[in-house]
Amino acid sequence: MKKISIIVPCYNEQASVALFYEAVQQVYQTKIQPLWPQYQLEYWLIDDGSTDATLTALQKLAQTDPEHVHYVSFSRNFGKEAALYAGLQHATGDLVVVMDVDLQDPPTLLPQMISGILEEHYDVIGTKRVDRKGEPIIRSFFSNAFYGFINRISETKIERGARDYRMMTRQVVDAVLSMPEANRFSKGLFSWVGFKTKYLSYQNRDRAAGETHWSFLDLVNYSIDGIINFSDKPLAAASFLGIGAFVLAIIAMIFIVVRALVFGDVTGGWPSLVTIILMMGGLQLFCLGIVGKYISKAYLETKHRPVYISKQER
Ligand code: UDP
Ligand code: MG
Repeated sequence: MKKISIIVPCYNEQASVALFYEAVQQVYQTKIQPLWPQYQLEYWLIDDGSTDATLTALQKLAQTDPEHVHYVSFSRNFGKEAALYAGLQHATGDLVVVMDVDLQDPPTLLPQMISGILEEHYDVIGTKRVDRKGEPIIRSFFSNAFYGFINRISETKIERGARDYRMMTRQVVDAVLSMPEANRFSKGLFSWVGFKTKYLSYQNRDRAAGETHWSFLDLVNYSIDGIINFSDKPLAAASFLGIGAFVLAIIAMIFIVVRALVFGDVTGGWPSLVTIILMMGGLQLFCLGIVGKYISKAYLETKHRPVYISKQER
């Protein structure tokens, strides 16, 4: 028997867990089992330190289907990236799929993903949203800006609108796990390992239950993480800004000397001086902040702390 592992991060999702399992089982029984009877499912539900009854829901599910359902429960909330990592570590499947529990990642795509890997011989089948319906315009704008920016400054290309929902072969999973970094930006890691990838598009849809866990600020931080983790170009920005300011200063100096020679020494102009000092100060602090961000990442990385702590699993 071969196995398809389904990795599902769950954070305060008591209402979604059962719905999710039902929906996936439905697709498995009607669309997957008849076509690929040699494959069975293995669920790895990761309770990311939920404060509601998610763990109880997972335990109940594991009791009703002990052969296929497994779970890991974290000692606190470590974040979705940590949950994904735990899932990848535990999964034993020949094919591994990562999906959200809120049914925003439609299980109906699973048969297409399987056939993409088994019949079209892709290593990875990713997904992306064709539209951002139901999302605030400002969020879409920044999200577009993020993809534009990171793809310009990073060697690792990130597909616009790509979701974490993806199916991978065992080989790809092992490659992702071979990266030991503690600060994990999965979208980047999945892209960094390479392999033959195909993207399926689908319409955005609303959550089955519960609410999103991401505030606008979370998304901004997430974007900064992505940029810092996959590019060192911002570090070079300091040098460019510095050179630019230096050249400007030389031009201004020549201008002042020439003006003094032609028109005599015109004093005044202290407001412009203040603005320039402020601007330079601002730029310096800005660059210092960028450097600091990289140092803090390196600092955290050297501590070799575990990505997550599992309190209970089966
Ligand atoms: N999630 C998690 N830990 C967190 C936040 C979210 O495991 O700290 C899970 C959540 O339960 C869901 C998935 O990550 O299965 C995506 O979260 P959400 O639906 O809130 O994000 P959105 O779809 O709005 O981007
Ligand atoms: Mg969601």
